[in-house]
Amino acid sequence: MGTTIRFLGGAGTVTGSKYLVQDESSAVLVDCGLFQGVKSLRLLNREPLAIDMPSLKAVILTHAHLDHSGYLPLLLRHGFAGRIFATPPTRALAELILRDSAALQEEEAELANEMGFSRHAPALPLYTTDDVETTLRHFVVRDDNEWIDIGDGIRFRYERNGHILGSAFIELDWKGRTIVFSGDVGRTGALFLENPQRPKQADVLVVESTYGDRLHPADDPAAVLADIVRDTYRRGGMLIIPSFAVGRAQELMVLLHRLRHSNAIPDIPIYLDSPMGLQATEIMRSFPTWHTLPDSESDAMWSEVRMIRKFRETIELLRSKASCIVIAGSGMATGGRVLHYLKERLEDERSTVLLVGYQAEGTRGRQLMDGVHEVKIHGAFYRVQARVCAIRSLSAHADQRELIDWLSELEKPPAHTFIVHGEPQAADALRVKLRERFQWEAIVPRLFDTYLIDS
Ligand SMILES: [Zn+2]
Repeated sequence: MGTTIRFLGGAGTVTGSKYLVQDESSAVLVDCGLFQGVKSLRLLNREPLAIDMPSLKAVILTHAHLDHSGYLPLLLRHGFAGRIFATPPTRALAELILRDSAALQEEEAELANEMGFSRHAPALPLYTTDDVETTLRHFVVRDDNEWIDIGDGIRFRYERNGHILGSAFIELDWKGRTIVFSGDVGRTGALFLENPQRPKQADVLVVESTYGDRLHPADDPAAVLADIVRDTYRRGGMLIIPSFAVGRAQELMVLLHRLRHSNAIPDIPIYLDSPMGLQATEIMRSFPTWHTLPDSESDAMWSEVRMIRKFRETIELLRSKASCIVIAGSGMATGGRVLHYLKERLEDERSTVLLVGYQAEGTRGRQLMDGVHEVKIHGAFYRVQARVCAIRSLSAHADQRELIDWLSELEKPPAHTFIVHGEPQAADALRVKLRERFQWEAIVPRLFDTYLIDS
């Protein structure tokens, strides 16, 4: 049969990353993500995977994001009994993300059963907290830059790629051939992550293309943020920033801390109201060698940003009349504590809602970005009278130019290049660019495609 690679997710879409490398005797899965977004994709999470579980030796994670780790509990349920490799911060963040994912699914199933709106009776969560506990026992942590033997002439090594804390690209040495999986490639000059390491050698290359058709705006997010803070302060309002808990919330804290330190913004209280964001921040602090923030700055930031731990404190803050900044989850305002702030302040023209991340179709964040006049929250409508603005230059993903740069140190062209983790238009734009720049003929695989990669 030869050696093949099969695209079980993260092909034709940005979510569900799962890449299976196998030959007659062994199989390895790189990433094990959940499909997210439109329903037709999400339904795939309920389909069994066409993997021969006894031959699957290991799963290797590039990073902790749900679309790269969120299917793991199901893989275990389907009979996987091997090891799950991760860097130490990826293991810590994956635990946080998987527990949160299970809790959300349990909640949703419970709600569906109470309301009787599920076609399945009873509605079942995709997986439970117990499944996550089982999954966590299979994790094995390994540092970057060391070769890790997984038997049968297969080994791999992690090299940091600057996307989130603990993220890495993978060099998989498959019986003498090198297969590089980019993972999600970060940006050069990120706030607290080292610049991405670059691959030097690849016989086979699997590269992401989230922003394969785009260049990030060149504006300075700190300067834009400072303007927005000053404006909200002048009007005496609250600045509400819906934010993802892992990565973005910490970036905002660092940015705001630096702005205040340099007197670019007034001395206005900054709150983080996100139980998950708080834990992600603690995880970041516990891995000082995985980020570039000096201890002194990390300590100053930690003491300056007020962490909201109890819902009682949320209620107090909601009642407060003073101008302040609140970072709260969820990032697209689909749920979480941020909804309470929006209910309280959307109709207040002194306040500001600042969107700082990707806003998917159908979310409240997207509606706000599109300038709707009313938003429905918990069954009631709220008029949008607060100022709504966005910073588009904060991103944890390399853009087209940065992806090309990332590939520029490869000593010779890969025999096979596969473009994954992008909407069709982004993936195709990167394919064209790779031909133009390097004369490589890359393939954009479709979901469930299999390719022979022997020669
Ligand atoms: Zn990611």
